[in-house]
Parts: sequence; structure tokens; C-alpha cells
Amino acid sequence: MKKYFATFLLLLLCGCAMAKSDKDRRVILIMIDGLRWQELYTGTDAELAANKDFTRNTSSIKAFCNIDNVEQRRSTLMPFTWSFIRENGLMIGNRTKGSIMQVANKYSISYPGYSETLTGHPDDERIRGNGAGDNPNINILEVANESKKYKGSVRVFARWGTQRQIVGQARNNLPVIAGRDMFSNSPKPTEKELMLDEMKRKLFDFQGNAQLDLWAYQYASEQMRTLHPKFVFIQFGDTDLHAHNGRYDYYLSAIHNIDDYFRLIWEQVQSDPFYRDNTTIIITCDHGRGLGAEWCDHGPSIKRANETWLMAIGKDIPALGEMENNGPFYNKQVAASLAAYLGIDYQPEGWEIGEKLFFVK
Ligand SMILES: [Zn+2]
Repeated sequence: MKKYFATFLLLLLCGCAMAKSDKDRRVILIMIDGLRWQELYTGTDAELAANKDFTRNTSSIKAFCNIDNVEQRRSTLMPFTWSFIRENGLMIGNRTKGSIMQVANKYSISYPGYSETLTGHPDDERIRGNGAGDNPNINILEVANESKKYKGSVRVFARWGTQRQIVGQARNNLPVIAGRDMFSNSPKPTEKELMLDEMKRKLFDFQGNAQLDLWAYQYASEQMRTLHPKFVFIQFGDTDLHAHNGRYDYYLSAIHNIDDYFRLIWEQVQSDPFYRDNTTIIITCDHGRGLGAEWCDHGPSIKRANETWLMAIGKDIPALGEMENNGPFYNKQVAASLAAYLGIDYQPEGWEIGEKLFFVK
């Protein structure tokens, strides 16, 4: 009897320990490639929408155009952001209202932007562009993945295959689904995963080392449902592809879709007890874009392409709404902010990282 009682006690203790560790916060970082603050905060640019070089299919974006009122214009383009995130979270980077955010790196190019955000510092000597190869810098994802609390519970879903190099997968073996990756590589793909693979295989590969945002979202959603990772990084970027191709109409449609992925991800989080009321979501971008005809481009020679933005929602995010007259904030502050939410130490040796953002306790 004594033996049974001891076993019972042991099981009870294990149960408590599991329940406790299960309270670890869930964190989702979402990054949107090259979505300008201008569209986020002021909606469709009337001149670009009227320019036939950039907007060829006017009917597809009719709903987002010819709206004089800024409030109405931005809400039509990103309805979930302006109804839900504004009301329940916070938003920084609207320069028309004096809220300033930018990258600290010199380049305003994707790889340096993601690297700065994930590592907490720019590395202007080694990370100068998208061809930087395997990132020698330690990042918050891998430190979390090696921590006691988040071991084996970190996952990356990215539109762009180069994210594997950016997060240093060759070194840290982080689970990444990006670019042309297929689920069927995994030992037990679900039916939905196999269908996604099949559709991806059949899709004409017009993007090279990338997948459409739709896939990045679907893979993330399915693995959040089946594997319940506690720390998730999702990268979208149809925006950047269409902008470089000079298609403002497609760029707007991509933004509208991405806003809907925010809604779907939030609804999934709140409908799953594993994530509900215990998930913090940070959303930002890797760089801005130029103005006027230079909107297609970004980089060190493009004026104001360093300008970025950030939104946050979920557990412990104060409902400060659209903020005014604050900053400058930097992408390099995101890593320390994530570390604080995760409750882990993050200090890569030899680097001074950006301090956590003002709203992080
Ligand atoms: Zn980019």
C-alpha cells in the first residue's frame, strides 16, 4: 500500500510539474518583408494606385482606392489590424504622428534586417546583404531552443528560403519550413500537410527560393495545431516580391491577405487552450521602401527605406493603441523584448544588444 501511495505521490508531483511548465508563455514573432509604414498607417497611396506603370489591374484593388479619409482608407486595406489590433494592442512607427521606428543597420536590405531583429544587433561588417551565407551571429530563436523551458519547442515558417541561413540552421538545426521545403520530408505528415505539399509541387515555381505567403501561413497553422510549438517565427513576404516587380495592385492585395492571416492566427490562438490568453504576438518588418517612384525599391541608396514599424498584441501587451510622438525605436530592440517575454537570458558574447522596448516589463 505504501508503495502504491509513493507512486501516486510521484505521479501527482509530475502532474504538477507538467502543469507548471505548461504555463510557459507562448510567443509568436511575425515579420512582413518590405511592407511600408506608409500603407499600414495611411492606406493606399493614391498616386501609385493611379499610375498605370504600377497598377495594371485596377478592378482587383478598387475597394482600397479613392477613399479620401485616411482612417477609412487604412481600415479598408487592413480591417483586422485597425479594428482589433489597434483596440487591444499597440502600434508604433506612424511617422505622420511622430512615432519613429527604424533599422539600426546601414543597408535597409532583407537579410541585415532579419538578422538585426533576431540577434538584437546589426553586424554591418559581415551581414551586408542577402548573400551573406550562414549567419555567424547567435539569435534569440536558437538560444530559446537550447533553453530548458523552450527546448525543442521553437519553429520557423518562412516564405523565403534564405531564412535558413539567417537563423543559422546549419549550426543550430532549428526546424525551418521555408522556400521549396515540403512537409512530406517530416516523418508523419498529416493529410493536410500532404495536400499542401502536393499543391506546392504543382505550383509553377515563379518565385525561386520562396513559397507564397499562403503556404507559410498554412504550414504554420497546421504545425501549431499538431505540434504546439511555444515559440513560433512566421515570415511573410509577397509584399516585397510584388513591390520589386513594380506591381502596386498586387502589393496591396498581398497586404490585405496578410492582415487576414493576422486574424486567422489570432483566432487559432484564442480557440486553442494551449495558446489561449497565454500568447504574446509581435509583428514587424525587415525594412521600409522608397518614396514616389522609388517605392519599388529599398537599400542603402534609397532614401527612407530604413523606416520600419511594429505592432504587438496578446498577453501582457498594454492596449495603448496607435501611438504618437515616441521613439526612435529600432528593430535591434526586438530580441531583448522577446527574451523578456520568454523569461530567458539573452546576451550574445561580444555584442551590445538593443534594450527591450518600453512596453515590455
Ligand atoms: Zn526584405
